[in-house]
Formats: sequence, C-alpha cells, structure tokens
Amino acid sequence: MNYLIDSHCHLHDREFFTQEQAEKALETASSRGVEQIICIGTSHEDSLAAQSFSELHKNVFWTYGVHPESAENYAKASIKTPKNRDKLVGIGEIGLDYHYSGYNKTAQFNLLERMIDLSISLDLPCSFHVRDALPDFFSLAANFPKLKPSVLHSFSDSKENLSIALEKGFFIGINGLITFANLDCFKELSPEFLDRIILETDAPFLTPVPKRGKINEPGNIKDIALYLANKLGVSEQEIAEKTTNNVRKIFNLPDSGSGIKQS
Ligand SMILES: [Zn+2]
Repeated sequence: MNYLIDSHCHLHDREFFTQEQAEKALETASSRGVEQIICIGTSHEDSLAAQSFSELHKNVFWTYGVHPESAENYAKASIKTPKNRDKLVGIGEIGLDYHYSGYNKTAQFNLLERMIDLSISLDLPCSFHVRDALPDFFSLAANFPKLKPSVLHSFSDSKENLSIALEKGFFIGINGLITFANLDCFKELSPEFLDRIILETDAPFLTPVPKRGKINEPGNIKDIALYLANKLGVSEQEIAEKTTNNVRKIFNLPDSGSGIKQS
C-alpha cells in the first residue's frame, strides 16, 4: 500500500478543531498521501463525536474509549457502546496513567479491565495509553490471553520496556515525539522495527519537526514518515507500505479506495 494512515488523532474533537478546520485538515492530509485516519475516543461523549465524524467520510474510522485520567468518573457507570458499530475499529484510548499525582490506581485498574473485556467481547484490538505505568500494565494485560494484537500508542518509555512490549506482541505507536524528544528507546533502531510500528499524529498534540509551534494535524504523518525513512536508511515508500499494512492488519481497515474525502 503506497499511502499513509494516521492511526491515532483527535480531529473530531471540536475543542481543538472546528468542523471547517477538520475538513480542511482532511484535504491537506489527502494531498500529502495520508488516506485513512482513526479518530480516537477519550470519553463516552467524545467517542460518539468520533463516530459522528467518521460517518461523514469514507476513510475516517473511530474507536470507543475512556482515558485513564477519567477513570473515577466511570467507577460506577456502565460502559455502553452504541448499537451502530459501523466503522468502529478498536477500543481506546484506554490504559494507565500515573504521570500526575493524585491518580486513582484502583479506579484505573477497574476501568481498564472492563474495557479490555469489552474489546474481547467485540473482537476488537485496543489502543493503549500507558504513561509511567508499564510494569503494572504488563501484569494486568497478562491476565487477558484473548486480548487481540494491540497498540501501545505514543510510546516514550525505556529501552527495556520497549523490548518487553515487543516480546509480548504489542505494536508501537510512533508520533512526533521521535522527531524532537531525543528518546533513549529510539536511539538505535533497525529496519526490522518497521514490522512492529504504526504511525500516528495524536493531533492536535505533539506536532513533529519541522512544524513545531503549530497545531498538529493528520497530514503531518508525512513528516514523521520522512524522519523515520532518513533515520532507518530506507525509502519513504517502504515506511508507508509497512506501517500501513500494520495498521490495516491490526484494525482490519479496508483498502482506502479513492481517498479520504469520498463518502
Ligand atoms: Zn490521543
């Protein structure tokens, strides 16, 4: 496949993009070879917004998720996915986040277990957000042997934890961080790494070099792909082919057909 995919963005979130800006971002993405995007839910309402946006464009897909930072709000609430699951391609973002003090570990564990159960019952992969919590995450995930091959989005942890994640079969979500954060875990990479990664912007956040200072958008996948091609000494086409195949395999996406804007 000779096109790129943004496997994790928040283009549907009207706090960051107006409808008009989102439409424009899709056009830019298309002009830069980014033909499919996955809009990632962070709460029940936000997931429904991702769903609505996906209904407007053939090559926009969505996931249902509740971010770990909102775990307490969902402690007693039942998780109700919508009946219409067209274009629902995964569960996420879900996970554990111990970055800011005051987090509620019990609530995060409970929610994550319920969400992984949901992914298994719907036969869908997960997009995991795990920050400063990988050892706990690995032990929890080990209790779910039926978990489908899933993604650790926005990976920025240690080299050791990267090796463990790969050993355990997780795919690694690479975004703009790799272009500016000087992360130890990505210092020495071999081209084989391409079999296990997918590209994401996490737009509007984490804008890659050379667009730092601007709001991030799906078209910037192209900049991440170029950076990686250069770093690994492979062609941009190889980056596109491998990462696109990985995303399509994990999230079971159809071929992009005639581009992002067709509905
Ligand atoms: Zn995100």
